[in-house]
Amino acid sequence: MDRRTFLEASAFAAGGVAFGKIPELDGADSRHAPVFADSPMIGIQAGAVSFVDEGTAAVLDNFQRLADINTIFLATFTYGRGIGGRQPRGSALPDHGKQEYDDNFHGGNFATPHPQFYRKTSIAPEKAPDHGSYDVIADVLPAAKKRGMRVICWFEDVIGAGVPGFDQAREVTLTGRPSTFACSRNPNTRNFWLGMVEDYLRSYDVDGLMWGSERQGPLGNAIVANHGGVGAGGGIACFCQYCIAEAKKRGIDVDRAREGYLQLAAFVTAGRDGHRPADGSFVTFWRLLTRYPEIMEWERLWNDALEDTYRDTYHLAKSIAPTKGMGWHVWHNNSFSPFYRAEQDYADYAAYSDFLKVVMYNLCGGERLAQYVRGANRSLFADLSPEQTLELTYGIQQYRAGALGELAGAGLPASYVKNETARALAGSGSKMKIWPGIDVDIPTAATSKKTQPQDVYDAVKAAFDGGAHGVLLSRKYSEMRLDNIRAAGRAVRDLRLV
Ligand SMILES: [Zn+2]
Repeated sequence: MDRRTFLEASAFAAGGVAFGKIPELDGADSRHAPVFADSPMIGIQAGAVSFVDEGTAAVLDNFQRLADINTIFLATFTYGRGIGGRQPRGSALPDHGKQEYDDNFHGGNFATPHPQFYRKTSIAPEKAPDHGSYDVIADVLPAAKKRGMRVICWFEDVIGAGVPGFDQAREVTLTGRPSTFACSRNPNTRNFWLGMVEDYLRSYDVDGLMWGSERQGPLGNAIVANHGGVGAGGGIACFCQYCIAEAKKRGIDVDRAREGYLQLAAFVTAGRDGHRPADGSFVTFWRLLTRYPEIMEWERLWNDALEDTYRDTYHLAKSIAPTKGMGWHVWHNNSFSPFYRAEQDYADYAAYSDFLKVVMYNLCGGERLAQYVRGANRSLFADLSPEQTLELTYGIQQYRAGALGELAGAGLPASYVKNETARALAGSGSKMKIWPGIDVDIPTAATSKKTQPQDVYDAVKAAFDGGAHGVLLSRKYSEMRLDNIRAAGRAVRDLRLV
């Protein structure tokens, strides 16, 4: 029994709550405090609006009664509609909560930002004005503790365009315009996230933190290797003063990087307009990479800044609260784009993560895979048919689902969840918890797959069949129908996990 297993076993014997001796942070094997030793984690994401609309006790009752939820991932910071607010207009409201659309959703910090933690950033730590003085952590945490439930702050890399000081943190795109995202290398950005981590950990006795960044580097964005269409993962960036300075330090020729990306962008634009290069799209793409290795160097530069964010955040969190969990939400594009997947190395993550929520939304996954395939098929895979591009993707990504025309309507099979879970475990060498994100009623187009109870049941079972340490019902309670949550509970009970 190694030290980690021993600590986990001891914690389990002690009831799984007291985590025993706190390991030193600089020890070889001590990066991972034995957090969440009492697997399985049965989690759900929920935003402030649900507790305000339905009452905290009623929501927690539902979590426990319907699905034996033991961990709440509270959406504590976002300006986005994915994890905050009610269902956006155009999607049906579920069978609970206020039956009204919240078109005036604003977002921000749904707890109480404490200004002393944000002195080193230009980005204003705005309290979300959506629910007056309501502090979602202050409200939910004591009620959850009383029931023996854990609370994890769940916050994401989505900052509102109008936030004061954000203009001094934005990425600069190839064209010189600011992107809608923050540059991960800009000290204002880094200090904003570090401040938030410190704020949540010092101001509240929460059980852990999860941060998510649904973005990719300039290469993937240039070739539209993502679901959600052009720009969904960001722009061709970053060419800000900090990124340029870092490039120069590494000896990367900035002008050639710009020229390479200009040519790459022109190649993709021409391809999307139906122009096919004489030597074909793939050869032309590869020729650009060999002619301008700076394209790959800039891609590395972008990813290094994000990885540094993970690492810095993790080490800060562990220095403040060694026994509390810190982990990451891994973007769904990981399932579609091999270019993005190559940059999500589970072995690397294991050095600075207690857990990963790997998005494995199989129901909306069909629609999203089809979007990726059609996007990539119009750039570097234009030599192939869309169906061939899908076949190639199945082969490379190591799972299978239906034909392109049926994907959106059918979704991805539960076997995809099992395969992806097993892959995450194999890649991480059991050094961190793997909690697949399971989709429940995530909005899709009218003709696309809609969540049914049996789908949720199958996906939860598949995750545990693949060896998962838990599951995380996503994206937010305010969009889930109760029958679908209940189906997750049925699977958990059938598997005798609780
Ligand atoms: Zn930058």
